[in-house]
Amino acid sequence: MSDSNRTVCHCLHCKIRGLMGPLMIITVGVLFLIGEYTRFSFLELWPVLLIVAGVVLTAQSLASKEGHLGS
Ligand SMILES: [Zn+2]
Repeated sequence: MSDSNRTVCHCLHCKIRGLMGPLMIITVGVLFLIGEYTRFSFLELWPVLLIVAGVVLTAQSLASKEGHLGS
């Protein structure tokens, strides 16, 4: 209960990790739009998701854990 403030970490590493989910959803949406309005289909575009995920994971691994809460 009183631990709730301690479990929320605001270090850069954890912030980037928190971005992963929303970013994947946004990317899927953008890919569907591209699939709708260009000659590319979603089946051709889905590997972009892997690239986005890879970029986010790389950024996360490089991000500072300064001020990170928990062990
Ligand atoms: Zn953290």
